[in-house]
Amino acid sequence: MATPTADSPDLTDEQREIQALAREFARAEIRPIAAEVDESDVVSPLEVVHKAAAVGLTSFMLPEEVGGGGIGDVLTGCIVQEELNWGCAGIGNLITSAGFFARPLIEVGTAEQRERWLRPLSGPTPPLTALASTEPGVGSDAAAMTTAATRTDSGYRLHGQKTWISNGGLAEYYVIFATVAPGTGSRGVTAFVVEKGDAGVSFGEPMRKHGQRAIVSTEVFLQDVDLPADRLLGEEGKGFYSLMHTFDESRIHLAAGAIGIARAALEYATEYARERTAFGKPIGHHQAVGFRLADMATRIDAARLLTHRAARSMDAGRHVPAEAAMAKLFASEAATWCTWAAVQTLGGWGYSREYPVEKWMRDAKLEEIEEGTSDIQRLIIARSLIGR
Ligand SMILES: Cc1cc2nc3c(=O)[nH]c(=O)nc-3n(C[C@H](O)[C@H](O)[C@H](O)COP(=O)(O)OP(=O)(O)OC[C@H]3O[C@@H](n4cnc5c(N)ncnc54)[C@H](O)[C@@H]3O)c2cc1C
Repeated sequence: MATPTADSPDLTDEQREIQALAREFARAEIRPIAAEVDESDVVSPLEVVHKAAAVGLTSFMLPEEVGGGGIGDVLTGCIVQEELNWGCAGIGNLITSAGFFARPLIEVGTAEQRERWLRPLSGPTPPLTALASTEPGVGSDAAAMTTAATRTDSGYRLHGQKTWISNGGLAEYYVIFATVAPGTGSRGVTAFVVEKGDAGVSFGEPMRKHGQRAIVSTEVFLQDVDLPADRLLGEEGKGFYSLMHTFDESRIHLAAGAIGIARAALEYATEYARERTAFGKPIGHHQAVGFRLADMATRIDAARLLTHRAARSMDAGRHVPAEAAMAKLFASEAATWCTWAAVQTLGGWGYSREYPVEKWMRDAKLEEIEEGTSDIQRLIIARSLIGR
């Protein structure tokens, strides 16, 4: 098919191998269950996570020292994200969700902490994990978080509430961001590892969502949770930097996931435009439809170029907040536009739940919101241009 694919000419043999693995997994294991999982709304399909674990797709990014695949480069993560999200964004992100939790542990965790909380993620039935920053009153302005961490004789006591936490209630382990100095902004933000079974931890009901329903989101309540000192991750007051570094990587991966959704929409719409006829010819031969497909293809390719550039830049050791923000901004808006365009191309059938494109449109919208809205990405890019 003459549509752009993810086959960049400059991938290594190892990257091509894992791309082929993820592509086949998405085709054989994710696509067939995507609609059913979406309809059932608040149920995470753990069976498919275990199948992914069996072929290494849940742990390829974890360090070898804890049993992972040791493929820690951001670009390979992008390649896998695109393929899995092509299958279904919710399921794809569920499969790779360990990467979001693991990032701060890899960056600032001790060897003991990595052994304790990362090694189980490399097993055949890996526990789910989560990362919690957002609160009911604080999302974009993460430095203003109010969940408090107070020092005790044996460690810390956490008190507060998080919201919209992916894998909430199902995850065994959580990286939770709290402040040791409320009201001081980013200077107080500190990271902790909290376990599901810790006394004082509880969860809200799964939130009912527009899209990406394969991942459960809940509130997390922290009611005077006493933690031993070894739950502190990194240094006191340095958590904000860990969070921002985590976002640099995860936003590039999110951009790659958005490209996967957009590619699915383009492929489906192109096929439909070849077969559906109106006014005596395939609709793709009507210029308005053909041009829409051309715009989809162009935006997808541009999004991938930006995303892979940001990934390669981060892999080269550069500090990439603005490049990551550009990739996320452009790719997520491209995905929203391309999935809208696919619905439009299918006409009335695009609006039907019997066809997959309306789901992709719902799934794509989240990419413009989570891990920093499009406004926040523009803010980061603007600051990189003109300073604060
Ligand atoms: C399905 C889902 C899963 C999620 N998973 C997680 C998770 O696992 N962990 C986690 O911690 N969080 C998670 N989130 C939360 C998500 O990251 C936040 O919703 C997001 O960062 C926006 O925060 P907010 O909802 O509080 O919006 P607000 O910060 O209240 O923003 C509201 C509006 O104001 C705009 N705005 C705010 N500040 C500015 C500004 N300075 N300039 C211009 N515009 C601005 C925003 O762009 C937005 O349009 C998830 C959210 C969803 C929907």
